[in-house]
Amino acid sequence: MTIKEELEEVPSVVKRCPRCNKLTLKFEKGRIYCTSCGFEQNIKR
Ligand SMILES: [Zn+2]
Repeated sequence: MTIKEELEEVPSVVKRCPRCNKLTLKFEKGRIYCTSCGFEQNIKR
């Protein structure tokens, strides 16, 4: 399963960062980002 598919299944809860494995992912308009390691990913919705 890809990261994107996981996000679409559970779009609005706290998510674990795929890079640093901390629960520090934040959701913004059309993207997520990690406040710990700086990971970013665009999401289409
Ligand atoms: Zn991270």
